[in-house]
Amino acid sequence: MSISGTIKSALGRGSRSSLPPSAVMSNGFSSRQRLQQALDEMVEAREPVDRLALLLIDLDRFDLVNDLCGPAKGDAVLEIVARQRLGSIRTVRSIHLAADKFACLFPFAGDEAIALALADTVQQVIREPILLGEHVVYLTASGGMVIADEPALSADDLLHAASLALSHAQQAGGETVRCFCPEMFTDLDDRTELENDLRTSLMRGEILPYYQPIILLDNSRPKGFEALARWHHPRQGLLGPDRFLPIVDDMGLDRDLLFMMLRQVCRDARDWPAHFTVSINISPAQLCDPDNAVMLLRILFASGLAPGRLIVEITESALIHNLASAHETIRSLRNTGVRIALDDFGTGYASLSRLCNLEIDHLKIDRTLIQSLDREAGRKLVKAVVDLGRSLSMPVTAEGIETPDHARFLRDLDCAFGQGYYFGRPEPADAARTRALSSHP
Ligand code: C2E
Ligand code: CA
Ligand code: CA
Repeated sequence: MSISGTIKSALGRGSRSSLPPSAVMSNGFSSRQRLQQALDEMVEAREPVDRLALLLIDLDRFDLVNDLCGPAKGDAVLEIVARQRLGSIRTVRSIHLAADKFACLFPFAGDEAIALALADTVQQVIREPILLGEHVVYLTASGGMVIADEPALSADDLLHAASLALSHAQQAGGETVRCFCPEMFTDLDDRTELENDLRTSLMRGEILPYYQPIILLDNSRPKGFEALARWHHPRQGLLGPDRFLPIVDDMGLDRDLLFMMLRQVCRDARDWPAHFTVSINISPAQLCDPDNAVMLLRILFASGLAPGRLIVEITESALIHNLASAHETIRSLRNTGVRIALDDFGTGYASLSRLCNLEIDHLKIDRTLIQSLDREAGRKLVKAVVDLGRSLSMPVTAEGIETPDHARFLRDLDCAFGQGYYFGRPEPADAARTRALSSHP
């Protein structure tokens, strides 16, 4: 079946309502009209050999620009993207759809690789730094592309397919472009199934913590575990958090997941040697809700686990969005002896002043930095972060250690802790217990 046939038949199945929220156009009607008009004009004007591509662009983490520079400057940035950046590519016709979303239409001759190369040009012009008064804004974009071979396709259908491709690009971590393929509708069906099953699975204990060892690099022994959520789905098998956390958030079940994880984690950790720590992840939104600290502490105290054995891993985006309430949660946790680790350090916007003010106990170097250790610049950066941790008296954990060379390099830097597939993958509670007990006879 042709792509257009697939899009149409899939749309006919009523899958539209299960599109991820990121794919929904907020001021859809007039944007779609403008897009349809542009599409009609381009179909009319194109050479016989030309094909048409629609690239749907979403700026990555644009809310941070609004937060850091203010909404007026945010609007100015969008204007620059629309007029000076996208407008500068001769062959591309761009339409500002809504907020930080743009549609780019372009004719091309040849196969998908040619269209992807043009999509890459779009990403490159967006990546050029934007100077706004005292601010320099660095943007990246995710894109979903669909090739419109059949002119009869409506803007609506094309947007739907491009939206699906875009949500795949975003799930892959952003800053990338995905081209629509019919299997994406199967993924949509899988997501719908997960949405339907999530509530009961949470209640039945089908979602549960797996444990990845955190190793003392000095002697290669585990000193604790990070709890990572896994879903034993009855039909789709073992699912990682990338598959279900976005659905958990969309369905407003994130607190249920957090509290379930903590209950189970406290129960499991009581079986390990008493000096073993356990780390849990808390999302930025959860950190900003002070009620969560109260509930977390209630669960912790009821479990009997010593608070000093619990480490709560936070990411820096929470600190940017709502510093005051994040502070409050952090303070009430730390007052009882719970420790805080700053996760994914080195990927975001944490400034040194923020680090000093925040009363953080540990730094976790993001695995993308460890994966850059084969380059001189990567080694310098990792050394700088380990030195920073030392000068702030914060023990550092390097994540994503995959090779003996990674481990050796970090050990030579006197980095305290390591975590990664080289030492052990996330494993079920009984395997973690065996590992913990056997490492400390
Ligand atoms: P994270 O907190 O940065 O967790 C580390 C992730 O890196 C885990 O992915 C882990 O399996 C993976 N990893 C560990 N060592 C290596 C390595 O050597 N190489 C590579 N390539 N990957 C490695 P996972 O389990 O898929 O979790 C992904 C993210 O989902 C976590 O990133 C965390 O942000 C989030 N997450 C997991 N469980 C929970 C949870 O219960 N609640 C919340 N809010 N977030 C969670
Ligand atoms: Ca983590
Ligand atoms: Ca991490």
